[in-house]
Amino acid sequence: MIRGQEEQVVSRFAPSPTGRLHLGHALSAIRAHDLASAAGGRFLLRIEDIDGTRSRAEHVATILDDLAWLGLRHEPPVFQSERLALYDTALAELRTRGLVYPCFCTRAEIAASASAPHGPVAAYPGTCRPLAPAAAAARMGEAHCWRLDLARALAQPGMADEDLWWHDAAAGRVRADPASQGDVVLARKDAPASYHLAVTVDDAAQGVTDVVRGVDLFDATHVHRLLQALLGLPTPRYHHHPLLTGADGQRLAKRHGSPTLAAMRAAGVDGKSVADDLRNGRLPTGFSVANA
Ligand code: GLU
Repeated sequence: MIRGQEEQVVSRFAPSPTGRLHLGHALSAIRAHDLASAAGGRFLLRIEDIDGTRSRAEHVATILDDLAWLGLRHEPPVFQSERLALYDTALAELRTRGLVYPCFCTRAEIAASASAPHGPVAAYPGTCRPLAPAAAAARMGEAHCWRLDLARALAQPGMADEDLWWHDAAAGRVRADPASQGDVVLARKDAPASYHLAVTVDDAAQGVTDVVRGVDLFDATHVHRLLQALLGLPTPRYHHHPLLTGADGQRLAKRHGSPTLAAMRAAGVDGKSVADDLRNGRLPTGFSVANA
């Protein structure tokens, strides 16, 4: 079910509080905010903090200050760390239907496997997929994640190619290609849900009609579309936007040391002017927009 045009628009900004926000995050937040506000809709803030080892409360506080500085009003934040039961329920349903399997491989084992990496994504080679249920059950005390059994998932009713598509504001009608992503992780060794599972469950549970995010997450949408179909969840409209790049042509990931919104704020830069500049395609010197 693709979401209808007549509903109230609900968009969200969904940062992970694992570092400080930069201009690329600001662009995502502004686009999501403006989409909702232009339609008289709702703009949600979801803190994606399922990764307990990397998420920090201080980053949450900074995100709230950054959004206020940019002049973006949002609904009270929702924290993924408080919603783990929802993800558990979804995972349990997929387990009951035999659509996930436990994987005991280490990163090093996956990297060393002959068939990985191939293509743009280092798809998991499926080492643990054939483990018999009894053998897997005997190893439940060992560290393991849960992976989607893609072949079984695609063999379910309603998962034919012509059923699985989604709409992107820039790319138009897109046929979902979850096979390109392989047997993705749905629950991690160190966290009760993966990004893919949590984001899919939350977008549906929160009634998100429009997902605005960087084009670096375009391929993740293939997986989200499949999960929506498997779990009987609605499909939002997607708006994957080009990424900002720094003077060196690199994306503004935190690791490239691009100025953070917090640093700009501390330096006395006016956030609302920055937001208006980003809206109008005016970027600070040294930045440009690139399609991934
Ligand atoms: N939490 C993700 C990130 O910070 C974004 C999730 C999304 O927009 O779907 O990259």
